[in-house]
Amino acid sequence: MARKITVSVDHDVCVGNAMCVTIATKAFELNDERQSAPANPDDDTEELILEAAENCPVAAITVTDADTGEQLFP
Ligand code: SF4
Repeated sequence: MARKITVSVDHDVCVGNAMCVTIATKAFELNDERQSAPANPDDDTEELILEAAENCPVAAITVTDADTGEQLFP
């Protein structure tokens, strides 16, 4: 079974270019301020979520194993 993932977005640096939303379409969504917000990470694969985090131009995304707290990215 896939492990449970938690994502967070640093709104002090997110520039709202929607790259993460394009790659991991279920894990992220743009909020009313046009910044990325975590949505339903359980509905995307870990690979897609990590790809989204890696492609964020300002490294705003942190990916964590929800059960162990292990930081998976960055
Ligand atoms: S890719 Fe990064 S900068 Fe772009 S919307 Fe997502 S978190 Fe914000």
